[in-house]
Amino acid sequence: MNTDNILGHAARFEPAETLIDGKRNLVGLTMDELKVEMAALGLEAFRAKQLWTALYCHGARDVMDITTLAKPAREKIAAHFAVGRPTVSAAPVSVDGSRKWLLAMPDGHEVEAVYIPEEDRGALCVSCQVGCTNKCSFCHTGTMRLVRNLDASEILMQVMLARDVLNEWKIPDLEKRMLSNIVLMGMGEPLFNYANVAKALKIIMDEGGLAIGKRRITLSTSGVVPMIRRCGEELGVNLAISLHAVTDEVRDVLIPLNKKYPIADLIQACRDYPAATNARRITFEYVMLKGVNDSPADARALVKLLEGIPAKINLLPYNPWPGSPYECSDDATIQKFGDIVNRAGYASPIRTPRGRDIMAACGQLKSASVKARAGQERDE
Ligand code: SAH
Ligand code: SF4
Repeated sequence: MNTDNILGHAARFEPAETLIDGKRNLVGLTMDELKVEMAALGLEAFRAKQLWTALYCHGARDVMDITTLAKPAREKIAAHFAVGRPTVSAAPVSVDGSRKWLLAMPDGHEVEAVYIPEEDRGALCVSCQVGCTNKCSFCHTGTMRLVRNLDASEILMQVMLARDVLNEWKIPDLEKRMLSNIVLMGMGEPLFNYANVAKALKIIMDEGGLAIGKRRITLSTSGVVPMIRRCGEELGVNLAISLHAVTDEVRDVLIPLNKKYPIADLIQACRDYPAATNARRITFEYVMLKGVNDSPADARALVKLLEGIPAKINLLPYNPWPGSPYECSDDATIQKFGDIVNRAGYASPIRTPRGRDIMAACGQLKSASVKARAGQERDE
């Protein structure tokens, strides 16, 4: 399928490269790009590898600290390049240990990243857009007026900042790191910013660097059907689908993108997803909305819809936000729904919302800078 239109859609929202104190950001350049830049400075290609290791294995924050590079090389590089990090504008911690970082990117735009610790590991929920190019009716992020794609460096820097704050650069054993998983479930629709997401993920997955493998990365999409196969073939990450409804009638209202890519097409793309196996099932997210999509008949239709797909179903209690138009289903309804899905042989954990008290739970993200302009929301 031709995916150029989708990339064209994203191009409108593409950010300009932002400089850090007049210098270019080393973070986000691929190894090939680093080699080209080193050559332009008259430096050998192996300097690129040294830089890569310093940036992505050791978390170097300043070129002049990279002592594996000879001092004249460091000086040459530092004259033109810096090591970027977002600025932390706020960092609330939830009673459940989740941490949210409100991060200002070099041009001042803000996004949120959320760290969700488990007993011996943890996931970082990363944003891929400022706001979102979609406007799902149940999602706080979808109400943001300001929208642009993040570039690859801005996606990567969220991971690097989390590793800074968690102080994990010095832990060589991946298994011992508390930042073990990445979920692209923050602000934005990753498959509407595919090029930047893919570039960032390839750097994140590189074994000579951050080394977070594809099995530890989950990309969640609201259903950008034409990009799903490519995502599986090129990245091979775990796929999560924000399904949320079993009829086009209901899904059209929840996720307007459904009018373009209806349920049947979405389910077919899941059946064809190259990286799905019984060991690596596709996650279907299903937000429980009182009286909207939570009946036993919906549960039975869900089971039927997913027949034959290696799937697990995450039931998400709806997280309210100020002015939100829906209510969460009550516990008994969610339980009943889960039982039907379970009896059909699907794992269907009911996700305990994390970080609700700091507005860090699914669908609650919305950067504060934009909140201040709430009166101007949804003016399209
Ligand atoms: N844009 C992507 C990924 C980010 S959203 C997507 O939509 O898939 C992460 C998950 O939270 C998605 O399944 C999304 O549908 C869900 N979500 C959004 N708003 C929510 C809310 N208010 N309560 C619970 N889940 C919500
Ligand atoms: Fe965007 Fe996902 Fe929110 Fe929909 S649910 S508005 S796709 S972030």
